[in-house]
Amino acid sequence: MNNLPNKTFNELSVEELVNLIEYHNNRYWKEGNPEISDEEYDLLTRQLEIKDPFNPLLEKIAFPRFNRAEKIRHAVPMLSLEKAYSRGGVVQWAEKFARTEDELFSIQPKYDGISANFANGVLASRGDGFEGENISDKIPLIELEADGYKGPLNRDARGEIIIRNDDFKNIYSKILKKDGALYKNQRNAVAGIMGLKKIDEMLSQGAKLTLVDYGMIKEILPFSKLKDENSWNDILKEFSILPYPMDGVVVKFHDDAYSASLGATAHHPRGQIAFKISGLRMPSVIKNVEWSFGKNCLTPIAMIDPVRIGGITIKKVTLHNLKFVNDNDLRIGDKVIVERAGDVIPHIVSSEKGAERTSFIIEKCPSCGSALVIEGPELKCVNQECPDTKLRRLLSAVRSIGIERLGEPTLKKMMSALSVKKLKDIFSLTKEDFLALEGFREKSADNLFREIQSARKTSDRALLASLNIEGVGKNIAKSILEKYSLGELRKMSAAELENISGIGPERSKGLSKELERQSEIIAELLDALDVSVTKTSDASENLKTICFTGKMPEKRSHYERLAGTAGYKPVDSVTEKLSLLVVADINENSSKMEKAKKYGVKIIPLSEWLVND
Ligand SMILES: [Zn+2]
Repeated sequence: MNNLPNKTFNELSVEELVNLIEYHNNRYWKEGNPEISDEEYDLLTRQLEIKDPFNPLLEKIAFPRFNRAEKIRHAVPMLSLEKAYSRGGVVQWAEKFARTEDELFSIQPKYDGISANFANGVLASRGDGFEGENISDKIPLIELEADGYKGPLNRDARGEIIIRNDDFKNIYSKILKKDGALYKNQRNAVAGIMGLKKIDEMLSQGAKLTLVDYGMIKEILPFSKLKDENSWNDILKEFSILPYPMDGVVVKFHDDAYSASLGATAHHPRGQIAFKISGLRMPSVIKNVEWSFGKNCLTPIAMIDPVRIGGITIKKVTLHNLKFVNDNDLRIGDKVIVERAGDVIPHIVSSEKGAERTSFIIEKCPSCGSALVIEGPELKCVNQECPDTKLRRLLSAVRSIGIERLGEPTLKKMMSALSVKKLKDIFSLTKEDFLALEGFREKSADNLFREIQSARKTSDRALLASLNIEGVGKNIAKSILEKYSLGELRKMSAAELENISGIGPERSKGLSKELERQSEIIAELLDALDVSVTKTSDASENLKTICFTGKMPEKRSHYERLAGTAGYKPVDSVTEKLSLLVVADINENSSKMEKAKKYGVKIIPLSEWLVND
């Protein structure tokens, strides 16, 4: 293994992530020869944090080894802390040990850097908690910030080596790494600098690190207040404007002697807990829930108290479906932890009952008022005349036959102003009809008209998929149509359908019911559209190939789809076997055109192909 597997990071399993991270740790720390950028490394560790927040490897990453020969024994071990990922977890822990409601707790920022201990003139990393490494050679770079003191590291301290936010912005925008690049984030910069064999370069560039004493900033709260969410949030807010990188808070018993008397487990002192806010997770509250119409069901979307995660303000999260809501007993007023992972739609990872809770499960369709039905995990409106369900279905049909310019707002206007009810109605609309709609101009009306008309050419496969029959996507549509034509399909019984590969007895029943119900529409569509018959898979080997070249008015994918429905297989390059080269401009001589001429491949201009093929 020497490279990233051919998967995106969020497709990696926990095991794959662990292997990869360990491999890159080795490259970085032991061999001093990193293979991936700091940002990629960060993404890997973040993925692991999302998928397996309690993975022991995360602990190791938080406390890196620097490969120094000299080891330093800590007089007082630097144990790692037990972690909670919700406020509820902190309260539970406190409840276990608090002696009274007035028990005092101290809350400190959890700094995002590298823990270290300075004693008797020696600076040591945390190491395994009992024995660290001598990193005293870095002292010239370090300024100590402790209660009432800011200056050279000249007194005992236990804390975190970090780069202040302001320093990172001002100083580190000019400091270059060995490879000539800038450090991309504070923690990586600290780790990178601590791992350097020599710091001359860093000193000459003016690099500066800060050792923040753990005791410097703290808030004291009695147990009764710790349980109160507002006081808790006030403290988080107060900490969030401090100039230090942080990834949570540490909660301790204020009474050190009592805390020590609680002892420690093998890994953690009992008297302390860390509340970790991952950069991608934030607490919020469900304020309201809207049921949004999907193609076949209603999806609960929660409006939450806005939170900022990774630089983006999040106001809505998906609650997936009815089953998710029931399984997690979610109500309006509940507290939730919101997560945003990559480009995935924000969702919630955990919840806690709110003080005042309101159920948001509905029994009647918000659009048509008819009684909703529970089917599997979903809540559905089964009224065929339901306006919103119709809109969704029509929209999805429009998508599957490839009219991309026709979005939901326009479709809505068409339904109300132009009495569009079914897919086929769209094809009889004229440019003048569109111009009558609000927001349309000559050019946009013309474009839409042309796109709709070009979608008139479709394949039986795309058409079957566009009927929105549950469970019949493009693949099943393909295996059905290899045996039967759409016309034949209209009249088939469940028993006959069951013999098609990929269709079980369950699906065949539903399918035959749907086909029967939509029989008339299918007939209409077959009539309205120019439907080509899909070749069977044996014939696909012998499909005519087509290649497009030059700058065309629409996206390449648009023409390739047209070509597909006309029975061509689109390819990217010109070979002897190519059946047809379509060029944007017949007078512009490209290398593809020259090749095609050499091989004697037929060349036609786009305008001609659009008319004839
Ligand atoms: Zn409805």
